[in-house]
Amino acid sequence: MVDVLTYVKQIQASVHEKDSHQQEFLQAIDEFMGTITPFLEEHPEYVAHNLLGIITEPERIVQFRVPWQDDAGNWQVNRGYRIQFNSALGPYKGGLRFHPSVNLSILKFLAFEQIFKNSLTGLPIGGGKGGSDFDPKGKSDAEIMRFCQSFMTELVKHIGPDTDVPAGDIGVGGREIGYLFGQYKRLKQYDAGVLTGKPLIFWGSLGRTEATGYGAVYFVKHLLADENEDFKGKTVMVSGSGNVAIYTIEKLQQLGAKVITCSDSSGYIIDEAGIDLALLKEIKEVKRERLTSYQEKRPSAKYIANDSVWNASLKVDFAFPSATQNEIDLEKAKRLVTNGVKVVAEGANMPSTLEAANYFIENGVHYCPGKAANAGGVAVSALEMSQNSQRLTWSKEEVDQKLDEIMHNIYRSCRDTATHFNQPNNLLLGANIAGFAKVAQAMISQGLV
Ligand code: GLU
Repeated sequence: MVDVLTYVKQIQASVHEKDSHQQEFLQAIDEFMGTITPFLEEHPEYVAHNLLGIITEPERIVQFRVPWQDDAGNWQVNRGYRIQFNSALGPYKGGLRFHPSVNLSILKFLAFEQIFKNSLTGLPIGGGKGGSDFDPKGKSDAEIMRFCQSFMTELVKHIGPDTDVPAGDIGVGGREIGYLFGQYKRLKQYDAGVLTGKPLIFWGSLGRTEATGYGAVYFVKHLLADENEDFKGKTVMVSGSGNVAIYTIEKLQQLGAKVITCSDSSGYIIDEAGIDLALLKEIKEVKRERLTSYQEKRPSAKYIANDSVWNASLKVDFAFPSATQNEIDLEKAKRLVTNGVKVVAEGANMPSTLEAANYFIENGVHYCPGKAANAGGVAVSALEMSQNSQRLTWSKEEVDQKLDEIMHNIYRSCRDTATHFNQPNNLLLGANIAGFAKVAQAMISQGLV
């Protein structure tokens, strides 16, 4: 048998060869492979079973066309996808992303990460992801509805409450889930648990909207507690202004931190007095406007157009990148470290490049990778599935308490795994190994199918 490191390198090289054009997927693979060797050295049986070779290949990929009619009566077409990556621990579970950047590479990276994230929650869910290169920006409500209906007309054949349960992601929120659910119901039957992130009036879970953001803050709360620290009086940078960013800001403020930034795809806000959350919610959740409106209504805040918030040089204690993949590269990571950042917690999926993540870890920053820190969203999705199966709804307090417990468990298993492998500050290694361990065991016991 080859030695473990050689085996890992061989698999990595073979994925690079097979998927050479899938840059984001290869990045997620490299990040994972860079941490897994010590675990395989303890478990040579996984090498003998070629587990890495098998786990890096999605169980199934569905790609389809999505024709839809715009308000002017023109027929448009987009690409739709669903990646069913791994079902060892349960039905495929993961969001749908509607964004012009969506392609196979991005969805494969997201679905691959989702496998380990979902495993870390301790709940019975496998990993998947889907979406379309459809751009919801500037579309009317009727256009969004027709697109969602057409998308579901094909997706309906591939999902079900016990097989594959999609939810939201960038560009897909309660409104889109509602339209998708309506079309699924019309074409198939009333399966309450076929989608999560549903509106509260039909089978949604209290606390789901807040879950990703709150969960990321709870993760850091438990990390800080280990050092007898908390959020009081701390200064924080947040990027993004979608669902994840908004509820990250809300919980940070509740716990006594001051959040001084947020951003969208056209620019960013610096508000030294602290982000006005009510105003941000009105702009983003009610009016669906750009962040320029924030500055118009609050002239003391600065708006910087067409630049990344991570180019702002601000003294901060913590950073919560909550916009999108690869928003922090090495240069931006260095700037954050120079400015004193102590914790980087990822609300988005893979917002740090591999170089940036390694730089944080090597420089003693508590780097909390997305697959652990942002797992609260999918965890509460799984709680929504439980409630749907029971035909019951739980109170917001009950869901929130479960979320906090789940995030505590995730933090502990990342920390303890990292410590076990003598790299106590490497929560990336901790998350990858702890997430992988359960999936690997389940795959073997199911006969590697
Ligand atoms: N899109 C979210 C994520 O990246 C949530 C997925 C879900 O709730 O299924 O984890």
